[in-house]
Amino acid sequence: MPRVHISQHPVMAHKMRLLRDRHTASPEFYQLVKEIGSLLAYEATSSLALREQTIETPLQETKAYRLAGGIGVTPVLRAGLGLAEGFRQVIPDVQVWHLGLRRDERTLQALEYYNRLPHEVDLQVCYAVDPMLATGGSAIDAINVLKRRNIPRLSYIGIIAAPYGLLRLSQAHPDIDIYIAELDEGLNDVGYIVPGLGDAGDRQFGTF
Ligand code: URA
Repeated sequence: MPRVHISQHPVMAHKMRLLRDRHTASPEFYQLVKEIGSLLAYEATSSLALREQTIETPLQETKAYRLAGGIGVTPVLRAGLGLAEGFRQVIPDVQVWHLGLRRDERTLQALEYYNRLPHEVDLQVCYAVDPMLATGGSAIDAINVLKRRNIPRLSYIGIIAAPYGLLRLSQAHPDIDIYIAELDEGLNDVGYIVPGLGDAGDRQFGTF
């Protein structure tokens, strides 16, 4: 899977140990999700396009660069919120497009119960962020929603993936890059990633 990027950074591994630990309380957990979001943002933006411009330092004119075009981040509610916040700490002027998805139990279609995606789109890239890539269902649905906006480049950013969800997402959307911190063993019989970290939403927001 050439478009799957699994972090190799030692600082990431260090933070992941703290994040997974069942004794890590919600405030620290949320802080760690933001920090991991910043590290993933740094990795995922390493190939963005730049535009050259001339600026003046206090001493002379020089060539400098700016990002060529806007950047969007779509947190899938609610667990994606901490990752999006970490992203904003690296690139404060990202556009944040909140997206709430749930499955219609009858039709199995994705329903957008909350959508703050703008009508006018002028982005070079948009990142769908959701920490746990378990079965891949909501990640696939989120990318489908973004594809209808005609954004030139889309990526998915998560913290932990199960092999099943990773395979399904990359087969459903072979044209996107997928960035994760770690790949886990699998899923248990209720769809949780193991060893995992539990429920990423509950642990961020203290709702047990
Ligand atoms: N969502 C979570 O929050 N945790 C999992 O392990 C799987 C899905």
